[in-house]
Amino acid sequence: MKYELPKLNYKYDALEPYIDKETMEIHHSKHHQAYTDNFNKVLEAYPTLAEQPIEQILTGVNDFDIDKKDKNALLNHGGGYYNHKLFWEIMDPTNNKDEALIADIKKDFGSVDTFKEQFTATAKTLFGSGWAWLARDNNGKLHIYGMQNQDNPLQRGHTPILLLDVWEHAYYLKYQNKRPEYIENWWNTIKLI
Ligand code: MN
Repeated sequence: MKYELPKLNYKYDALEPYIDKETMEIHHSKHHQAYTDNFNKVLEAYPTLAEQPIEQILTGVNDFDIDKKDKNALLNHGGGYYNHKLFWEIMDPTNNKDEALIADIKKDFGSVDTFKEQFTATAKTLFGSGWAWLARDNNGKLHIYGMQNQDNPLQRGHTPILLLDVWEHAYYLKYQNKRPEYIENWWNTIKLI
């Protein structure tokens, strides 16, 4: 199967003024498109993998009996495809509050504000390119951590819940070196909590 660039449920300017139209357009139509194309390219060599759900590929990639270079390519481009798809979904302006998630956040972090503080600190201090994650372990407990590049909690056996892209391509046009300001403003795009 071939992966296609997922359509956004909203316009490129829908997250203004927190995320500008030009950044959204380039991020989706250029960066995400490139991850999608490169993921398809590496899957061409592995037709049986190409039939598996992407979650299974990202969970098991380290155990696959394939070339190290191709493993990295699957993580980088498969992760890039998956992570951005989820990123667009959690920023959808038509999202409603997720009361079940809010209850779990309160249980595991004490309050939504405490959760936001911890997640924000993780995003601000992640060195280089990567993502801040909220993920759920097998027992249902929530965890916050940063992962570099396009790595994904599925590699740890966790289920991704929320994520924030802190690659420079996600904010540089509007925020330049001011990653903390981008992160603070980004919370305004999250209607789930
Ligand atoms: Mn990105």
